[in-house]
Amino acid sequence: MTNKLAKTNVETTITPANIYLDENNTPASQKYGDVYFFTQNGAQETDYVFINGNDLVNRWRHYDSDYFCIAETGFGTGLNFFRSARYFQHFRQTYPHHRLTKLVFISTEKNPLRKNDAASIIEQWKQDDFLTGASHEATNYIDYSKVWIEQYPVPVAGIHRRHFSLNTKDCKGELVLDLHYGDATDAFAQIQKEPLGLVDAWFLDGFAPSKNSSIWTQALYEQMASLSKSTCTFATFTSAGAVKRGLQSAGFEVRKQKAFGRKREMLLGTFTGNPQPLECAARSEKIEKKSTKIDKQQAPYFARSSLASDSNDKHITIVGNGIAGAIMALKLTQRGKQVNLLWQGELPSDCASGNPIGGFYPQLNAQNNTASQIQLHSFLYASEFYKALHTLQPFSHEWCGALQIAFNDNTQARLSKLDSANLWPKEVAHLVNPEQATNIANIPIPYSCLHIPNAGWIKPPSLVQACLTLAQASGLLTLQNNTQLVSYECTDKDGIQLRLKSSGDPSQHILPTKVLNTHALVLAMGSGSESITKHVIPLRLTRGQVEMVSSNYPVKSDSVLARLQTLLCHKGYFTPAADGFHALGSTYIKNDTSCDTRDEETDINFAMHIQSIKHASWQNELQQARLNPNNYARAAVRCSSPDHLPVVGAMPNESQFQELAELYKALPLHRYPIPSNDKNVYLLTGLGSRGLTTAPLMAEILVSQMLGEAMPMAKPLLDAINPNRFIVRSLIRREPWQA
Ligand code: SAM
Repeated sequence: MTNKLAKTNVETTITPANIYLDENNTPASQKYGDVYFFTQNGAQETDYVFINGNDLVNRWRHYDSDYFCIAETGFGTGLNFFRSARYFQHFRQTYPHHRLTKLVFISTEKNPLRKNDAASIIEQWKQDDFLTGASHEATNYIDYSKVWIEQYPVPVAGIHRRHFSLNTKDCKGELVLDLHYGDATDAFAQIQKEPLGLVDAWFLDGFAPSKNSSIWTQALYEQMASLSKSTCTFATFTSAGAVKRGLQSAGFEVRKQKAFGRKREMLLGTFTGNPQPLECAARSEKIEKKSTKIDKQQAPYFARSSLASDSNDKHITIVGNGIAGAIMALKLTQRGKQVNLLWQGELPSDCASGNPIGGFYPQLNAQNNTASQIQLHSFLYASEFYKALHTLQPFSHEWCGALQIAFNDNTQARLSKLDSANLWPKEVAHLVNPEQATNIANIPIPYSCLHIPNAGWIKPPSLVQACLTLAQASGLLTLQNNTQLVSYECTDKDGIQLRLKSSGDPSQHILPTKVLNTHALVLAMGSGSESITKHVIPLRLTRGQVEMVSSNYPVKSDSVLARLQTLLCHKGYFTPAADGFHALGSTYIKNDTSCDTRDEETDINFAMHIQSIKHASWQNELQQARLNPNNYARAAVRCSSPDHLPVVGAMPNESQFQELAELYKALPLHRYPIPSNDKNVYLLTGLGSRGLTTAPLMAEILVSQMLGEAMPMAKPLLDAINPNRFIVRSLIRREPWQA
């Protein structure tokens, strides 16, 4: 396999910044010896250099799209972000009917401030009225700085997406922050490139070039060029000659203007796409080589196609009533799309997402590989998504943390390795000894454990209902139950023709199928996806049975299990009691698609749990709980992929087998075409038993792709979940297709 599906074993944890206050009480970086902003008039300087330097307010007024993207090189305290947010809010209030409703702010940060430092700087700003000091102000301004600190990202490399609502009684809109933790050049190289560019305006702000050459590099300017739209502008506080020449040679037209306050000059300009050769031929040659290398990095066969523009404002059909379909419906309606959600069963979430309780935790391993990174970023994004959702529409859950039990020597070695490798920040997961584990669980745990404090349990049906209720409140969602998708066909003219049959009344099965036209289709059907996609995606179906163990225990007095306060994970999981039941799961029976409940699997589930906690003094109690007549079980079929990663993106067309037939030759990437997909058909499946953890980020990825917005995950990870990866792999290895 080429590097395109390679394991991305990059550093995970990020070193936080060490800061001090200089003689003017301004936060400064010890590493770079430079200030983050100017105490007296930093907000006005931001306005002057970046907001006015890019002519933002005027450009927004004349902008003919619903989405504007700013990208920045150093996030620091977030001052530029907060000022941009404030200006955008003012713009929305002034022009509430303008079609530009969304501002995306991409920023990069190699050494993020510690949360406490960021919080005290923001607190100081509030005391000094620093953020509101400038002349240009919004009325009813929402202060995002408090929300920001509440959602402050953990120091993990990669993209941290945060959503901020602009909705007030006067205006509607959205602000999205994509904060890339890592080096700016590397981060921009990992952004999905769009054919017409992504960025409308650049803020170059990474300390003075004389103090930090790492962020003022030719490679960075080349990355900027590869991400710029044709109308893109830039602005920076510096007038350094090397910066000017570097930007020119990457295709920017550069001007100088009077700088802010007493400073002399600053640079600003426009992307023209016409690189101006540097005076020094040797240097220009070097740049040339670099730019070719960058262009080559993104394989055309993993390009991500968005909705055809003529279908963007029309309606989208989602098939599937589980967590994936419901979150997808919510996210699409939140972006103003008309959605029809249809599913085979009677009630929402009656498939794999119908289990009464599910564990919410990431499956981390001791290598920082693709799977771990996807798990971790999914978990971090989902945590924020669920917190925000719960404030809008409550659902049943508990963030009680999880203990991953080191129940045998192998697990102990694996968890110790994971902890000592320092791959994950301690606030995500850390090793605890038996005494600490006992305190956390509130019952005796005679094992070391990996503690994941932000994990917990969720009731999937309640989560699905919350998403659907919220989506329906927008007036943009219709629901259609008892409807089975038989097949679909992309038509030349009118989008996609769905063949459906009623699945409610068995007598109707003999009726002819109904036909429904839609402009876009999202297949989020879990196990139901397999038969429709098997010619291009080899999905796997696995039966799983979960036990609902009554907490009305046989041992009434001093029941230990009743005191359990955290989720216990080993080969399976055991939740604290909620509404009278613990969930104990689960079995994995490959290629079995029946949903009957089986006593022998109940035995397997209990035996697995009892074996995993065999040194616990309370394991007898669990043996007795097994006999409780109130217990019940539930079985469902999960859908996963052969590499156990989600399957998210455009539905590959079978013609990809011909279009990419020469992949085995390992030709230069630009020799391969962008392969064909079924037009406007998308997939969100293969989540296996990890849907609670992965569905929110996977849905965000798919919605961003469909609407042609910035993607919330780094390109190598996006490639790893691309639905056509199985075709690509089989062609590279020249292996026969195995559905
Ligand atoms: N825009 C910021 C604000 O509004 O507070 C101020 C930015 S501060 C002057 C420069 C930032 O760039 C610092 O936070 C620093 O850690 C970050 N930085 C420096 N070198 C970097 C690099 N190579 N990649 C990403 N960030 C970098």
